[in-house]
Amino acid sequence: MIHFDNVSKTYRTADGPVHALSNVSLDVDPGEFVAVRGPSGCGKSTLLMIAGGLATPTAGRVVVAGVELPSVSASARARFRAEQIGFVFQMFHLLPYLTVLENVAAAALPDGEADSRGRAVELLERFQLADRLKHRPAELSTGERQRVAVARAMVNRPRLILADEPTGNLDPASAADVLELLAEFHGAGGTVLLVTHQESAAECAQRTVRLRRGSTAG
Ligand code: ADP
Repeated sequence: MIHFDNVSKTYRTADGPVHALSNVSLDVDPGEFVAVRGPSGCGKSTLLMIAGGLATPTAGRVVVAGVELPSVSASARARFRAEQIGFVFQMFHLLPYLTVLENVAAAALPDGEADSRGRAVELLERFQLADRLKHRPAELSTGERQRVAVARAMVNRPRLILADEPTGNLDPASAADVLELLAEFHGAGGTVLLVTHQESAAECAQRTVRLRRGSTAG
């Protein structure tokens, strides 16, 4: 599902180059749940953004779900992302002026199944948010916000979920709920790449890849 072959990423900054990833090779099979762990600044988010086509590598080969991501056009990449990948971020990134239901339904592809609103409601009900549909994100607990974000990530039935520190802002009980939703997605055949610095979060993965200063460390 994800193939990284000697991938490097260097950011050019006013203070000189920052080598965020150096020759990283990584394979995630379809249906696998893999955690990427490592200290802050080791390149975890960069790896995830490259896997999702949100950033391009400086060198190396990246193939995700059979698509050589860096070599397709930006619009094709955006389409691919919307159809195949769900993203979950530490800071939720919900739109504050939309309701819970609108946040999820707005992410649904227009040419998907006709009843995208129905799909959003179904997911939110499954995630114990039935009585929050008309609330705005600011009226929710952080755990509820992240469950909305997971519903948004799943509304187009992606094959792959990329999660960047999804439990980083949550209390232990809410974190466990969110990890359970990711585990359910995995149980139904989905692929998950979870970036975290928390050992407890990585425990739900089948395999952990460690990053240290931009390189895989076994
Ligand atoms: P992590 O997710 O493990 O904390 P990141 O991938 O965010 O690591 O960052 C890896 C390194 O790249 C860090 O040194 C960070 O400061 C640097 N970095 C990340 N994004 C940028 C950027 N857009 N421009 C310049 N440097 C960046």
